[in-house]
Amino acid sequence: MSIPSVGLGTAWRREIVALLLWLALWGLTGLLLGYALAALLIGMSLYLALHLASAYQLHRWLRSDQRMPPEGLGIWQEIFLEFYRLKQRNSKRKKRLKNILSEFQASTAALPDGAVVIDSQGRIVWFNQAAAALLGLRSAQDVGQRVVNLVRHPRFAEYLATHGAEGSEVEVPSSVSDDVILSLRIIPYGNEQRLLIARDISHQKQLEATRRDFVANASHELRTPLTVLRGYLEMMEEEIGETGALRRWKGPIGEMGQQAARMGRIIENLLKLARVEAEGLQQRQEVVDVPAMIRRLVADAQRTDQKDLHFATDIDESLCLFGRSGELESVFANLIGNAAQYTPAEGDIDVRWWRDDNGVYFEVSDSGIGIEAKHIPRLTERFYRVDAGRHASSGGTGLGLAIVKHCLEHHEAELDIASEPNTGSTFTCRFPAQRAQARQAA
Ligand code: ADP
Repeated sequence: MSIPSVGLGTAWRREIVALLLWLALWGLTGLLLGYALAALLIGMSLYLALHLASAYQLHRWLRSDQRMPPEGLGIWQEIFLEFYRLKQRNSKRKKRLKNILSEFQASTAALPDGAVVIDSQGRIVWFNQAAAALLGLRSAQDVGQRVVNLVRHPRFAEYLATHGAEGSEVEVPSSVSDDVILSLRIIPYGNEQRLLIARDISHQKQLEATRRDFVANASHELRTPLTVLRGYLEMMEEEIGETGALRRWKGPIGEMGQQAARMGRIIENLLKLARVEAEGLQQRQEVVDVPAMIRRLVADAQRTDQKDLHFATDIDESLCLFGRSGELESVFANLIGNAAQYTPAEGDIDVRWWRDDNGVYFEVSDSGIGIEAKHIPRLTERFYRVDAGRHASSGGTGLGLAIVKHCLEHHEAELDIASEPNTGSTFTCRFPAQRAQARQAA
């Protein structure tokens, strides 16, 4: 329906003119009859009654389902018209929102990932079909339940309690089947609402395990033939001697021996990495006497040092750490070993061990060759080389920092690397403060 509308000013002008005419009519009639005031009062009352009746009409229409507004008299015609337009706009908006909502629900229902909306109290507000299948939720009963009562795993409860650190995920077995591993992620939004995304990562985990097993098996299989080769190479080196016809083979055989030794180190490191990845979290945790461990590792490094390096230590002797001894030793040995390896003769190496309110720190600084900033983010990748030529001649395996990263992850620790080419590098490990253990008095 299109109802013609006049402007706001015109409508009100007309209304006032009509009112004045109406009152004048009653006033004149009253004057003629000698009851001017009474007549004016009757005129005003009738005018008021008209407005009351119109207001009632409006109220009734607003509450009804009727589309068309009542006709209305005077200014009320305009008011009804405005309400009619408002009502139409609202119903269009409602329709649009309804469409968006049903499209959103249809698309999230079709998602392969589970999605659960959780309110500020941790109660389930809504979830899609995939969430029902992955987390074993049932539509009718489980809406309104606390999510920790339904996704029962200590790791998830802890993760939810900390609201999930930015971008972090937690892996838990599905309650539906032991073979299904889920990756759960919390995304906060709106007014303390949270979206829980559940992804089935069983296949990915299986592939990772297959890759790990393959690398571990291949490395293991290579060990024996390599030992045989190294044995023969050593024998040949001894047999050749300094004089005689075979003398010219001394260099190549020596080089072969060095490369075979490097291959041996790569194999050992690959096996170590596979072991750390596979069984790291199952390894027993204990109070580790880190000061003693650091002293032993620094003494080892000094013993094998042929470059007159200056080692200095600053160790909090009373500070022990709750963790996995073997893994911690790998971390410290690799960092001290790298510092010694990449620092030229007579350079300085400082090893520190301390704590503050934010954590427990192990730090190795050297005055060595340093690393360009662009390489730093990639140093912990397997086989990453800053300089391939230098790398091969240094005899490194390119796996040390990958092992360090994995071992630190098992201790919720972080590795920070600061370095400047030709000046030196500082590798700092920060462990959570709650891992600190004071040494018990003997
Ligand atoms: P590698 O066995 O080659 O030392 P790592 O994984 O331990 O392997 O280190 C990766 C690379 O990081 C090294 O090849 C080296 O280029 C660089 N690097 C590590 N520690 C240092 C350091 N203290 N000073 C300079 N470069 C370093």
